[in-house]
Amino acid sequence: MSLEEVPDPAFAQRLVGDGLAIDPVGNELRAPCDGVILSVHRARHACTLRAASGAEILLHVGVDTVALNGTGFTAHVKDGQAVRAGDLLLSFDINVLASRARSLVSMMVVVNGDSFQVGDCATGRSVEIGDRIMTVIGGTLAADSSPAAADAVPADAPTAEGQVQLCIAQGLHARPAAALANAAKAHPGAVAIVCRGRSANAKSVVSLMGLGTVLGDELTVQVSGGNAATVVEQLVGLIRAGLGDPVVQPGSAPAVAAAPAAPAVAVPAPAEEAVGPPFAAGEEVLLKGTIAVPGVAVGPVVRRFRTVQAVNETGAGAAVEEPRLTRALAQVTAQLADAATRMPEQGAIFQAHQALLEDPELVDAALAGVRAGQSAEWAWSRASQAHAEVLSRLADARMAERAADLRDLEQQVLAVLAGRSAGAGLADLPKGSVVVADEILPSDLAGVPAGLLGGICMAHGGPTSHAVILASALGVPTIVALGRQAERIPDGAPVIVDGNRAELRVFPPEDALASTRDVAAQRAARRAENRKSAGELCVMADGTRIEVFANLGRVGDTAEAVQEGAEGCGLLRTEFLFLERQSAPTEEEQYDQYQQIADGLGGRPLIIRTLDVGGDKPLPYMPLPPEENPVLGLRGVRVGLREPELLRTQIRAILRVKPYGVCSIMVPMIASPSEMKIVRTMVDEERAKLGRAEPIALGAMIEVPAAALIADRISILADFLSIGTNDLTQYVLAMDRGNPHVAAHLDALHPGVLRLIRQAVQGAAPLGRTVAVCGGSASDPMAAPLLLGLGVTELSATPAVIADLKAFIRTLRMEDCRAVAEAALGVDSAEEVRALVVRQWPEL
Ligand code: PEP
Ligand code: MG
Repeated sequence: MSLEEVPDPAFAQRLVGDGLAIDPVGNELRAPCDGVILSVHRARHACTLRAASGAEILLHVGVDTVALNGTGFTAHVKDGQAVRAGDLLLSFDINVLASRARSLVSMMVVVNGDSFQVGDCATGRSVEIGDRIMTVIGGTLAADSSPAAADAVPADAPTAEGQVQLCIAQGLHARPAAALANAAKAHPGAVAIVCRGRSANAKSVVSLMGLGTVLGDELTVQVSGGNAATVVEQLVGLIRAGLGDPVVQPGSAPAVAAAPAAPAVAVPAPAEEAVGPPFAAGEEVLLKGTIAVPGVAVGPVVRRFRTVQAVNETGAGAAVEEPRLTRALAQVTAQLADAATRMPEQGAIFQAHQALLEDPELVDAALAGVRAGQSAEWAWSRASQAHAEVLSRLADARMAERAADLRDLEQQVLAVLAGRSAGAGLADLPKGSVVVADEILPSDLAGVPAGLLGGICMAHGGPTSHAVILASALGVPTIVALGRQAERIPDGAPVIVDGNRAELRVFPPEDALASTRDVAAQRAARRAENRKSAGELCVMADGTRIEVFANLGRVGDTAEAVQEGAEGCGLLRTEFLFLERQSAPTEEEQYDQYQQIADGLGGRPLIIRTLDVGGDKPLPYMPLPPEENPVLGLRGVRVGLREPELLRTQIRAILRVKPYGVCSIMVPMIASPSEMKIVRTMVDEERAKLGRAEPIALGAMIEVPAAALIADRISILADFLSIGTNDLTQYVLAMDRGNPHVAAHLDALHPGVLRLIRQAVQGAAPLGRTVAVCGGSASDPMAAPLLLGLGVTELSATPAVIADLKAFIRTLRMEDCRAVAEAALGVDSAEEVRALVVRQWPEL
């Protein structure tokens, strides 16, 4: 591309220098000629090279990439290093840049253009590494070709100088350096900028950039020759005004470490978690995440981090790109319809994807891009990433997980545009592979047969994503939110996935691998054995009856849950019915789904939780105000009370399910008895309207710490309590359940959570209310004895664990459970609690 096409005026107007721009389709910057590296910018987005002729060439990847502070960039060379044409200088994560930089268009310009001219440029065509693309004319093997020469202070003694503080967030990067150099060049005498004891020739962009200045640096402007004082004043004024960049007050933006001459490679990206080199074989590493699907697995790692897609920003014109895009969208839509037919159980997920793909805002944004000259790939990526970004910022974990669906669709459409079939999939992996990925997408799992994958580990993602639901249906132990350290796990590394504790052991010792393999085999055998008796009631060794129910999300889960031994459904999350549509499901649609689940349960109890969405969740048909902190805002029952007709419709649908008596209603996010009172009145009124004489049990979820503390008061109005440990833990520990940075400490066995559970049980006891647990800890075998010991009599777990859970509970004695629970209330941490449990039940 010619420089005029660069979306940055400083480059477009050749203020930085003359040259050309490249719209990259790869992720590497290679040396355009032999030379010496003058400097690698500390943000690793740019470097300067001096050719043997003395020409100084700035290579600048993307536009405004300095603001990424190194995120996504790796430097492969150091200042002063000699390089040959074609050597790797920088590499970059094209996905990071595509989503966070203004443009990927990268510039190659000669910055000491006074001595050199740019001749032939290969613009307007596709080029490859090794192609001759630019000729630089002029210069000789000059005496000043050492890298230090550019930093040389002008020989003449300064006749005037002035001080100014640098107020540019990213320091003197290419654009402001060019502006300053151009202003300095207007003065015939020498001009230098001194910063932290180092001096740079102010007429040289390279020299200025090489100072490594940061926000807040004190600069001294030194000028010699006539009119020096005026020139100082002018340059100080320009620097103070930001040299074309926004002016930032030092202290108001994070400055990066002041290390001017330090090798650029060693400076970590300050805004992002530092990700080190790959873990070395022989050194065991333990990573902690969040439980998604319990179970244990051993296997070799297959990395599935999102691949770098070669995406050209500029297209072949709207006439070509628009039909390409619409054809690709149509093809992916057809593939989704096909997947929905092939996997009817998961049909709703693929239908939801189809709906996302047809979202007019998304499609319009992409079409606007191609009409503006972008390639179909670029426009589609940009539009879907922008939408995903909006979704991922939402505080509600479940809605934020829809961002994963969009990223999935982005990749699928890109694959089709590249002529491949959508979704590389995991179906062809060797049996027992443990997939380690930034995020697994539903389409990855679409064709995967049960029993193929050993485990799934994700750096990101939340425990309730669509992909996790599919993984759970396949019975694959899964850990999410391991953090970016997971990127360091090499392909083929042996790992132990402990989905029960959300722990991933990388390069464990051979004996640990062998013993875990044995344990996994024993567990599989035991589970097969446990399934034989799973249908029987669950009674502890001392005769105490405990009910073990299943958590369900859709009609399709019901049969498996019953097979696994569920004695009913303790939590039907009705959100799925509401979230993936353009209008609220009608009473009839809801009734139909609830009745099917009740039928599938064959007369077993069914506890239906009323809608648990929040103000931030873009239910397009429910206008709610935007909230600063939606997790603490309009959530759960608060939405139902604000939109009573929505709640009443759902209540009516539940009330109609036959036979009367199997269904109960459960209300999420109760904080006060008054909320229960209002809902109960609604239930009674709707019951009267329907002419239903039979009462219906109405339960309160205990997820808000206040509700646990006043469970005695809530029990007056609730027929039963069910503790949602996922939210209770998030609120008690003040840790966002969807935030991978705190996931490792988000443990429902924290003594603070256990004390609240005891308080809830004690509050409910005088009124004889059942207290159940339906949050994640009901599926955690380590939690079971503690919960029972604290007085919980019903657990509602994920279907895959029920057979084992029931078998384990049958071995427990209440006396032991109480003793360990009592001890657990008196320790300091969840780790100590887990240690107490393991001491009593070493088989865990
Ligand atoms: C909980 O919070 O523990 C719970 C069961 O509800 P959800 O996970 O659906 O928020
Ligand atoms: Mg909850």
